[in-house]
Amino acid sequence: MSDCCSVNEESGTAPAVMDCPVNGRRSKRVGMLTVTSLVRKLPLGMAKTQYYLCDAPDCDVVYFAFDAEAPRFRREDLVVRVGAKETADPIPMCYCFGFTRQNIWDEIGGTGKSTVAERIVEEVDADRCACEVKNPSGKCCLGDVTRAARDRLAQK
Ligand SMILES: [Zn+2]
Repeated sequence: MSDCCSVNEESGTAPAVMDCPVNGRRSKRVGMLTVTSLVRKLPLGMAKTQYYLCDAPDCDVVYFAFDAEAPRFRREDLVVRVGAKETADPIPMCYCFGFTRQNIWDEIGGTGKSTVAERIVEEVDADRCACEVKNPSGKCCLGDVTRAARDRLAQK
């Protein structure tokens, strides 16, 4: 791999959690590969710094950096809708296979259960997911999918 495309995170001194500078939400670290994959247009000369994901629905900031001088990225800067921040459909839940909250709700409405998590597990087990470069959190969506199904079932 050529050097120009390798990303080295300098996360050594950055804390695991930082407060969003806009709304104070406790935000977890997100890898530089996730940020560079999901931000539509990267600024030139981006600093090597630790980024964090603010998942508060009432805050426009998605990614902010440990280095306060580094650019912040807002909802409109990303190539995907950030499900955690959206209140109107479509609310993406699984970014690799395109499941939305509505897909989960529709299945529960039709059959009384949700098989989305199982279907995702099959794909993950077969190494066919790409959460690090598709999900704004950089993490697997299974927790969110499972929670959405459980909350919906609890409402019934
Ligand atoms: Zn925020």
